[in-house]
Amino acid sequence: METSERALNSTISELYKLQGALNRAIERERSKKWQLSLWSKFVRFRDGGCCVNCGSTQRVQAHHIVRKVLYPHGALETGNGISLCWPCHKQIHAEFNRRPNLSLPLGAEQGDDQEEWSYLFGLLKDDAQKRGLPEDDFYYLNDQMIIFFVRVQGHEQLLELVVEGSMSRIRFAHEVWSIMPESFYSNFASELVRLNLPTIGR
Ligand SMILES: [Zn+2]
Ligand SMILES: [Zn+2]
Repeated sequence: METSERALNSTISELYKLQGALNRAIERERSKKWQLSLWSKFVRFRDGGCCVNCGSTQRVQAHHIVRKVLYPHGALETGNGISLCWPCHKQIHAEFNRRPNLSLPLGAEQGDDQEEWSYLFGLLKDDAQKRGLPEDDFYYLNDQMIIFFVRVQGHEQLLELVVEGSMSRIRFAHEVWSIMPESFYSNFASELVRLNLPTIGR
């Protein structure tokens, strides 16, 4: 067996162990703090102890792509975590971390989040491919979260690709946040029709 293949296999078996520890902590209803620390350990090990954004190994932390305060059901999903070094982490929070206004309807402040999520899920899927790790095993997003994304963004045809297993969950997440919400296209289309009406027949 080649050295690189052996290294990959040992990484994979370690990841299954760390994932097992996280799942057991969830099943046994250990403290949220403990569960989060296992989630963070998993994410950082999976990403090779490196910042997925810049490659630095200094003060690497696990960041929630979709923040807990906005969507608590994503707090322990491995596909919702990405390793970032302190400067990159700080920058993401400074640029995007206006506290979400929970009194507004979901999606009202979505613009910046959408751009950020699409960027981070994109980094993660590229890193998964680079590392050769099975995406749905180690970058998982639960059904609830996938459905939440579709509720906000539309594009159910992408959901079908996930259901039939031809698109991984983080790829789906990257795709769905990279395009405008479906409602935008239908509003846009009807707006075009409305604006064009006076010119028809000229
Ligand atoms: Zn960094
Ligand atoms: Zn963070």
